[in-house]
Amino acid sequence: AGAASLALTLSACGQSSDGGSKTESGSAKGGTIGIAMPTKSSERWINDGNNVVKNLTAKGYKTKLVYGEDDPDTQVSQIENLITQGVKGLIIAAIDNKSLNNVLQEAADANIPVIAYDRLILGTKNVDYYASFDNTKVGVEQGTYIVHKLGLDAGKKGPFNIELFAGSNDDNNTKYFFNGAMSVLQPYIDKKELVVKSGQTALNKVTTLRWDGATAQSRMEDILTSSYKSAKVDAVLSPYDGISIGIIAALKSDGYGSSSQPLPVITGQDAELASVKSIIAGEQTQTVYKDTRQLAKVASTMIDDVLNKKKPQTNDTTTYDNGSKVVPAYLLQPVSVDKTNYEDVLVKGGYYTDAELK
Ligand code: BGC
Repeated sequence: AGAASLALTLSACGQSSDGGSKTESGSAKGGTIGIAMPTKSSERWINDGNNVVKNLTAKGYKTKLVYGEDDPDTQVSQIENLITQGVKGLIIAAIDNKSLNNVLQEAADANIPVIAYDRLILGTKNVDYYASFDNTKVGVEQGTYIVHKLGLDAGKKGPFNIELFAGSNDDNNTKYFFNGAMSVLQPYIDKKELVVKSGQTALNKVTTLRWDGATAQSRMEDILTSSYKSAKVDAVLSPYDGISIGIIAALKSDGYGSSSQPLPVITGQDAELASVKSIIAGEQTQTVYKDTRQLAKVASTMIDDVLNKKKPQTNDTTTYDNGSKVVPAYLLQPVSVDKTNYEDVLVKGGYYTDAELK
């Protein structure tokens, strides 16, 4: 009743950002939405958090935004706190996809709807909707880029040497990215036109805990020492810009990056500022851009719809089975970006200004 009368007061005062139509059904407008993001150590999540706050504020909500610093226990207690503080809804980008079971039961007991943000939460029915990108497509874009850049799709025969990196094994996206990329790369590996000299091709051999760039850097160093004494790396599948930066550091300290020994083709993801600059400088080769402004908008609209008893828009109701239910999803499209189109996509698209990229 409190929420309903508050909503009435707001629309009577003309403060309802949606013209009052939704608030009549007794919504949580004016209530607080809790937003739990994984880490501030990667710029994308800072943008995500800020963009979600902006969208929800425009819809008339208050927000509490927390960052778990890549520690699953911290994230669980942060979400517990948000529940205790009486949030009306939760938007969560999980650190460990399986660690949120109990805390989400507490949310369900308090009637708090949950949107899984970017990363699916596994093993609980207490996830209402999922807002993300087409995660398989992200990997397909990376794999396709490598094959194209090496000329394999134009009939070049190789063999080319490639090494494979994947994301964190506790992030549900990791296998989608990797399998998407391998759907393109594996046929060339089978034909021996791509060779993984380290022999590390299984997903569980190539993951990078918490997407940590330093971890990737030392794995790349080990691979260079053990498998590339008398050979060179032609391509590296990297799932994320922070990992790409670590890989590039390892390659450079091994002598790559000169005209006689150019850096290999190196993919990435997120179009983070440092990586776009690296692409412009001719080091990292590609990234996969995911417009966090769009994702924030989708997730914010979803929670607002759920709180207003309106069915959120979804475009994928079959792919994302979390072990307890198939979570209805809205998936956005990722875009491959390299030196040839960053200006069009990122600058004209308003994601960065030219000055930021200098
Ligand atoms: C996201 C990626 C990001 C990675 C590391 C994944 O769950 O989908 O965009 O690069 O986490 O933060």
